[in-house]
Amino acid sequence: MATLSTNIQYLKGVGEKRARLYARLGVATIGDLLEYYPRDYIDFSHPSSIIAAPYDRPCAIRARVASKSSEQRIRKGLSLFKVLVTDGQNDMLITFFNAKYTVSALKEEETYLFYGRVAGRIGRREMASPLVFQDDPDLAFSPVYPLTEGLSSKMIAANVRQALTLAEGLEQDPLPTAVRTAYELCGRREALESIHFPADQKALAKARRRLMFEELFQLNLALGQTKRASQKEAAAPMKPVVMNDFYHLFPFELTKAQKRAISDCLDNLCGTVPMNRLLQGDVGSGKTMVAAACSYFTVQNGYQTAMMAPTEILAVQHYQTWSKLFAGTEISVGLLTGSMGSAAKREVKARLADGRLSIVIGTHALLQDSVVFDRLGLVITDEQHRFGVSQRMALAQKAQAGQYPHVLVMSATPIPRTLAFIIYGDLDLSILDEMPKGRQPVKTYLIDPPKRERAYGFIRRHLDAGEQAYIVCPLVEQGENSPEGLESAVEEAERLARESFSGYAVGMLHGRMKAAEKERVMTDFQSGKLQLLVSTTVIEVGVDVPNATVMLIQNAERFGLSQLHQLRGRVGRGKAESFCILVSAQTDSPRLQAICKTNDGFQVAEEDLKLRGPGDFFGLRQHGLPMMKIAGLLEDMELVEKTRAAAIEVLKTDPDLLLPEHAALREHTNQMLETAGA
Ligand code: ADP
Ligand code: MG
Repeated sequence: MATLSTNIQYLKGVGEKRARLYARLGVATIGDLLEYYPRDYIDFSHPSSIIAAPYDRPCAIRARVASKSSEQRIRKGLSLFKVLVTDGQNDMLITFFNAKYTVSALKEEETYLFYGRVAGRIGRREMASPLVFQDDPDLAFSPVYPLTEGLSSKMIAANVRQALTLAEGLEQDPLPTAVRTAYELCGRREALESIHFPADQKALAKARRRLMFEELFQLNLALGQTKRASQKEAAAPMKPVVMNDFYHLFPFELTKAQKRAISDCLDNLCGTVPMNRLLQGDVGSGKTMVAAACSYFTVQNGYQTAMMAPTEILAVQHYQTWSKLFAGTEISVGLLTGSMGSAAKREVKARLADGRLSIVIGTHALLQDSVVFDRLGLVITDEQHRFGVSQRMALAQKAQAGQYPHVLVMSATPIPRTLAFIIYGDLDLSILDEMPKGRQPVKTYLIDPPKRERAYGFIRRHLDAGEQAYIVCPLVEQGENSPEGLESAVEEAERLARESFSGYAVGMLHGRMKAAEKERVMTDFQSGKLQLLVSTTVIEVGVDVPNATVMLIQNAERFGLSQLHQLRGRVGRGKAESFCILVSAQTDSPRLQAICKTNDGFQVAEEDLKLRGPGDFFGLRQHGLPMMKIAGLLEDMELVEKTRAAAIEVLKTDPDLLLPEHAALREHTNQMLETAGA
């Protein structure tokens, strides 16, 4: 008999090949499949007549097959079938391409449901390549799944149906009965059935609410437990120190927002409970200075600071900035990244272990077991959205027993309010809502490819004036595996150096280069030896070269809005006026037009959400919460608060989830904490 953990190949029609396709979707077991939720539904509850069908929008039409043409070969590899259907009042001509099997399965005089876009003239409606469904009066909604090539929604639906009838263990509900009753939630089996095959909108809403509740409830339990763990520990005790010497280390005046954030942090650092604070501020708002102030304070108190950055480039850059900043002081700064030579690594680790090193900046390499601190007092993670919750915690575990370090996380990614509440429910928040003085907004323009040469001329004039520029090329999605995209970036650099920018110093930067090579290119760009940097999105995060004033982004339509905003944040960092030029054939794209209109990261994020619409995953994966499967309902703030209350209630009576009725919850929670770093 099959259980939820039975391999997917147990199902009819799932052989090795289909199992491999499923693996690509992260589905290995029957349980995984049941939690592979539809992203949408085709609504068959109100099929349209042919005459009333909306033009060029997908809709369902119930119609009878009147006649079928024979196969017409258009050219090699392309064949066409025409099928005439009628709804009793009007006819419609349906065209199928390369669909021999589908068409031969259609029987004349039988009625089917056709789902597609209606086009053609009023008297002669047409539809091309519709989805075809048996005319089943019980069929109200048909699930549409996120797909991979070779798997159709129909195949997945058939497998899910079988899984629902086969799988044992569906009746076991991880939600305790008390919680289910209190919040009026349906059982798990009912919810799973309805999320895949809802009878109507109401059943769907009920199922979603129940599954959403379960996910958020689990998450809140996990967060509740980690918070408890950190608050049991004592903080590294610190005392106020005079900060004036620090403020004299750099030539500018801090913004009010920076001062406020620093004072929030220093208050926490002097407290008995470890600091757990999120510093959120748009790109360029000066988060690094807040981090530096906290580190200074920590070191003056005799403790060490560790700062973790998501990329090697960023770690190196922070290291250089901080080495310079603290050059005239007693404070020593070290670097630890995966690509350093083993002797250099060993040396840094030794200096950390015996306390000679006050501050270490690095990548994930900091998480290795061999990294041991003498007196770790403060952990900072930069661009937090790149890290999972668990990585943040792993670094914090590095303090010696009984003393939990203070934690500061920094992020430029503006997060919708509901989401921030879920992810950072256990964090305090400081916001940098003010840009350093003299900063000018980046002027952003959208141009179509034929105008590119003129844009190059514009860039040359800025290079001639002693400024620097970036040209960003996209990698095709899943970039690291996409040689073509990479080549195009490399080729682009060579072509530009040869043609439009011959005579200028052009450098190239991409993720596949060796670390030492990347570092050399970055250093050369920072020192001004290189004038133009052609790069992939590796510069997206945090790179800071104030003399760079122009950025041109090729194929801008391939980027997300927030990503474009991050990229654009690489310019406009100095005093000179800065420009961002988006090149795209889609000059009427509302997304691209939106980003030209505002420089405010929060507005960009809002716009992004609005345009992507609900049902999108709100970038949850980015936030290290890959388990949120139906997170599209995050707008439901009330549910978020309810699950939080329910979780607190359960943890009050059973803090370690040891009661038998909480066994499933405990298992899930542990899993969640383990995988949160994905
Ligand atoms: P982000 O918040 O994106 O991490 P950074 O900390 O990298 O921003 O700061 C961006 C740039 O602004 C850096 O060159 C930094 O030295 C400079 N900067 C930071 N604070 C101020 C300030 N108060 N006045 C002027 N320049 C500042
Ligand atoms: Mg930064």
